[in-house]
Amino acid sequence: MDYLREVEGKRVHDPFGDKMFKNARRVCVPGPVIVGAGPSGLAAAACLRERGVPSVIIERANCIASLWQLKSYTRLRLHLPKEFCQLPLMPFPTEFPTYPSKQQFVDYLEAYAKRFDLNPQFNETVESAEYDHSLGLWRVKTKALFNKEETEYVSRWLVVATGENAEAVVPGIEGMDEFVGPIVHTSSYKSGDVFRGKRVLVVGCGNSGMEVCLDLCNYNATPSLVVRDTVHVLPREMLGVSTFGLSMWLIKWLHVRYVDQFLLLLSWFMLGDTTKLGLDRPKIGPIELKMTSGKTPVLDVGTLAKIRSGSIKVCPGIKRLSRHTAHFVDGRAEDFDAIILATGYKSNVPSWLKDRDLFSEKDGLPKKAFPNGWKGEYGLYSVGFTKRGLLGTSMDAKKIAQDIELLWKAESKHLTAFICPQPSSQHHQLMSKN
Ligand SMILES: Cc1cc2nc3c(=O)[nH]c(=O)nc-3n(C[C@H](O)[C@H](O)[C@H](O)COP(=O)(O)OP(=O)(O)OC[C@H]3O[C@@H](n4cnc5c(N)ncnc54)[C@H](O)[C@@H]3O)c2cc1C
Repeated sequence: MDYLREVEGKRVHDPFGDKMFKNARRVCVPGPVIVGAGPSGLAAAACLRERGVPSVIIERANCIASLWQLKSYTRLRLHLPKEFCQLPLMPFPTEFPTYPSKQQFVDYLEAYAKRFDLNPQFNETVESAEYDHSLGLWRVKTKALFNKEETEYVSRWLVVATGENAEAVVPGIEGMDEFVGPIVHTSSYKSGDVFRGKRVLVVGCGNSGMEVCLDLCNYNATPSLVVRDTVHVLPREMLGVSTFGLSMWLIKWLHVRYVDQFLLLLSWFMLGDTTKLGLDRPKIGPIELKMTSGKTPVLDVGTLAKIRSGSIKVCPGIKRLSRHTAHFVDGRAEDFDAIILATGYKSNVPSWLKDRDLFSEKDGLPKKAFPNGWKGEYGLYSVGFTKRGLLGTSMDAKKIAQDIELLWKAESKHLTAFICPQPSSQHHQLMSKN
């Protein structure tokens, strides 16, 4: 790890030092820098630690798993059974139900971080990360939330774990500024309590939109659901097992098209014809669609029954909004008190990662299809961008740890006495933390 000793020397003659970070604190990290302390960042750090590789996790929020702790609704449960959502090296407690609640999942992640002694640097946002070819190292620049202090982490490896859901997608709808009621994204929605007795328009018919509608019904609000696209709705369980588990098992034996036909037939028996409820199905089957486009089928937890009973009304796309009214593309218009945008999330990687090889600038996801998008050039890795939820996270995390361990061990052989130049007390803390 002689490279770390070189860093300070080269910095003196640093041709790349930009003005903004000229006075930044510099931290030499012997192991990888991991950006994001969600399930993916934690899983990668735990797998690395298990193999004796220390890492530093940088997180913009004040807690681990901020998507789950700060940006999700109260009634949220894991959509998939727990055996498909546990992180490597530590199963869920046996007493947890098949679909753990949000709080149980957060408790599990807190216990996970404790068990592997993972202590992220909280309230620090990564503003840029760039590979410095002259040093052969990644330069990761961060800004602290409160004192705005700038820090540059220098490392041989960079693991991107900022997630497919880093930023809320807020569509531009004509007349949005005119609408007098609140317009909130699901990332700010906690429960239907504040919408009691209100007419609420929910835009987007994925799992979140469907569940928010159900939640609103439970709080005596009157939800309407905007369904613009086709959507596959499947029962959460079939033949006494989870639909997801059944699909995963069938796909081992049958072609995906047969699996889809089987799932759609069973869905038809159990849920009826969803087209009659205003929910047209895509031409491609649910599993093939997930594999080719990443679009997740909705797993019904009771919303369809509410649509069927008329408690939730299905509406077409919105053409424009006015003060109290949504005008739909079919010419209808209806008054609402509030609008909830269940319009999803997007990756923020292109806004801070200067490398353009691993990630696409367009959608911030790896350019190479699963399972090949986890590794880039020069020690760059991605974890949790597989469109396969936490199962994909576990697969990535294990591969990354295995890969880095080989290099780590090779380089450790050359390690005689590692002394980082001008060490700060913080630096020593970081080295021994994760
Ligand atoms: C409502 C909902 C329900 C879901 N249910 C399931 C489920 O049941 N099963 C399943 O497998 N998957 C589910 N998912 C998919 C979900 O993406 C994963 O569960 C999981 O949260 C992904 O983990 P992650 O660590 O990759 O991303 P995140 O959980 O999004 O974590 C990324 C972290 O990176 C931080 N970050 C982002 N940008 C920066 C930056 N520039 N600097 C520093 N930190 C940064 C964020 O603050 C965040 O804490 C669900 C998703 C949603 C939205």
